[in-house]
Amino acid sequence: LDTHAVPLRDEDDRSMGVLLVMNDLTKLNRLENIRQDFVANVSHELKTPITAIKGYVETLLDGALEDQDNARRFLSIVVRQANRLDAIVDDLLTLSRIEDREQRRDISLTVAEVGPVLESALQTCAVQADEKGIIIQVESDEEWYAPINQPLLEQAVINLLGNAIAYSPQGSLITLRCQGSRNRQGEEFVHLSVIDNGPGIAKEHLPRLFERFYRCDKARSRDQGGTGLGLAIAKHIAQAHNGTVEVESSLGKGSTFTLILPAAPRNDGERRG
Ligand code: ADP
Repeated sequence: LDTHAVPLRDEDDRSMGVLLVMNDLTKLNRLENIRQDFVANVSHELKTPITAIKGYVETLLDGALEDQDNARRFLSIVVRQANRLDAIVDDLLTLSRIEDREQRRDISLTVAEVGPVLESALQTCAVQADEKGIIIQVESDEEWYAPINQPLLEQAVINLLGNAIAYSPQGSLITLRCQGSRNRQGEEFVHLSVIDNGPGIAKEHLPRLFERFYRCDKARSRDQGGTGLGLAIAKHIAQAHNGTVEVESSLGKGSTFTLILPAAPRNDGERRG
């Protein structure tokens, strides 16, 4: 705590007491630490592919270029690493755009049906799922409407669905579920869940899962082409919808990630029939 005192005096310069000013430095320090960690993490994440690219290109220049087969192999690694860099920078830009807009509170939300968002996210991920023979089924209890930013919400679903596909075994089943809930105050919420039958996530990872660059298994995530930012982005998108994202998982039991958003107030007669 940073405290300083300012003496207060009236017009005749008589003392009226003191004004105590206290600043909570712990919070400022914590934010500064988070910022420093983030810069260190970003630098490290960018360095890894850059080091690989330099290494392979140097080896090629040192003579490996003469050996056609190796040259081809090295160049494909260079392209893969360049794509990684590209994906990390794309995700960083997305994250900073959302955060920026979140702070300015100008992400526009329009009341719309949520089902089509699931459908288009599914279409985007269909090729990736097909390659692994993964089946995706969609379940919905009824039509749900919510104030949404369609492209952003779709991005959040794509991030969750993309992970489910990436971390699930060949030929497994993923369920996209849309259902509602009501709290004690009678407010309604839409739950968008991505349910997989993958390896699950150990309990100790769950509290940190939505942090930027947090991964349960670094090597596995990199193999999958992961940037380590997908869940952080999903969380910010949920927040921009005044909602949250939750995870339920345990090792060997698959994972369920759920976006929970306030539903649009509705006129029962109109929509349910
Ligand atoms: P990444 O790009 O590494 O996938 P994310 O932020 O999307 O980054 O996810 C963070 C980590 O959470 C992943 O590295 C992975 O370890 C774990 N994870 C996310 N989704 C799943 C899932 N459906 N099944 C198992 N592990 C998951």
